[in-house]
Amino acid sequence: MYNLEAVLKKYFGYDNFRKGQKEIIDSVVNGRDVVGIMPTGAGKSLCFQIPAIIFSGITIVVSPLISLMKDQVDSLREQGIEATYINSTLSEMEYMERIQGISVGDYKLVYIAPERLESEGFCRMLNQVEVSFVAIDEAHCISQWAHDFRPSYKKIGDFIKGFSKRPVVGAYTATATEKVKEDIVKLLELNCPKVYVTGFDRENLFFSVLRGEDNQNYILSYIEGHKEDTGIIYTATRRETESIYNFLLKHGIKAGLYHAGLSDREREEWQNRFAYDDIDVMVATNAFGMGIDKHNIKFVIHNNMPKNLEAYYQEAGRAGRDGGKSECILLFNARDVQLQSFFIEQSDLPQYRKEYEYEKLREMVDYCYTSKCLRKYILEYFGDTVDYEECENCGNCLDEGEFRDITLEAQKIFSCIYRMRERYGSGMVVDVLRGSQNKKLLSAGLNKLSTYGIMPEYSKRDLMNVINKLVADGYLKLTNDGYPVVKLTAKAVQVLKSKARVTMKVAKVKKAIKADNQLF
Ligand code: ADP
Repeated sequence: MYNLEAVLKKYFGYDNFRKGQKEIIDSVVNGRDVVGIMPTGAGKSLCFQIPAIIFSGITIVVSPLISLMKDQVDSLREQGIEATYINSTLSEMEYMERIQGISVGDYKLVYIAPERLESEGFCRMLNQVEVSFVAIDEAHCISQWAHDFRPSYKKIGDFIKGFSKRPVVGAYTATATEKVKEDIVKLLELNCPKVYVTGFDRENLFFSVLRGEDNQNYILSYIEGHKEDTGIIYTATRRETESIYNFLLKHGIKAGLYHAGLSDREREEWQNRFAYDDIDVMVATNAFGMGIDKHNIKFVIHNNMPKNLEAYYQEAGRAGRDGGKSECILLFNARDVQLQSFFIEQSDLPQYRKEYEYEKLREMVDYCYTSKCLRKYILEYFGDTVDYEECENCGNCLDEGEFRDITLEAQKIFSCIYRMRERYGSGMVVDVLRGSQNKKLLSAGLNKLSTYGIMPEYSKRDLMNVINKLVADGYLKLTNDGYPVVKLTAKAVQVLKSKARVTMKVAKVKKAIKADNQLF
């Protein structure tokens, strides 16, 4: 028996394992394949580093990011663990030296990029040494259903099969969707793996969604109010990254810039300056990401809504790795939905995949509109069971607003959709409810419906907001009939039959300012 706590203390200086770590490590060292699903920042690395220390042979860690490899290897070496990495940044000389080192058993851990497995010579060499364990970091990259699929991951299955004595295999990821999980087990040909899902909660993170802000000014004032803190601002496009970066510089903020349009050298330089606290804020696209191992990130602000909750939770989860309280703020604007739809439409994904992406986008949008607990929404999305209604630790739960009964308004909206035979998009529903003279509406005869013009006192924007919230809360659903069509769900039917009521959170301040008949 190994004393895992003693290994943890000796090499990493920690007293206790975090949730799931010990079980995963225990299975691996007992020769069992594992799939470890833990949220970003929860501590996956230890789950392969400790087995690597314990095993007699070498551990190969397949990792997608070169910058991460170097960081991890450097810190392992500082802790006295013999580790190295092999990737395209090495000179011929360094490469030869490291191969030589591997063949004489100099290292406990060898990090490699998946592309390395394309080299037959390299795989043959590994077959001649004792490889005890193969750990695949960011294992979801093997699945086409994952948000950052990497074709080179497909080689890993053959690589493992190539060993005359099969090593133990561990797959680690923060993505838990069924499809991805199945792909990991199937494509890596895992042997009856033990699957550990530790639960997705990151208790130290505070989530909030803000709509209708002037983003640049919001970001500036947030940073000015958090002068001591380090953070990341994520944007959807390179252009926006540059514009926010310039804006912040102009206001004296020590900001950095990171996107795929910069040269390798520039990116590395910014990344280093961020790592060494030379800049306070990194303004970046999602190119800045996987594998940032900076512990003291106190806030992650999204200037735009990302394409799905996996991407959001991963990016936001880069905050608070040190376990300290940190904030994840999403600045939502309806234009983000168009932009992400555009990205999906322009992609060369097959139609069935596009539909899947639209569905995920929809769930992301619902997150932005829901007035219910954001943490519960996220956790349930990732498949956790949540037995509370309010976490008391997210923007919605702490919202000063109060739940208002909007059953009557909801019934009007639902009955209008019903009378429109669930064949139109939300824009047209709003027009009918407000009694618009829209030509298309008139020529379809929708002005003859009994629900035509029954909510004239509401603005277009307010009604649209309510419909989006009703979608987010599961009363309505959008189906793709070539364009998004609003339909009723069973939950709405209950409301129409007066068997259930609808409540929605309304901000107190806004309610006081606005006229009574406005919903928001
Ligand atoms: P992940 O790969 O899951 O995103 P990491 O492995 O990078 O997360 O770990 C995140 C942080 O948590 C690291 O700084 C790591 O040192 C720290 N950590 C991991 N396990 C423990 C533990 N048992 N006790 C304290 N800190 C830990």
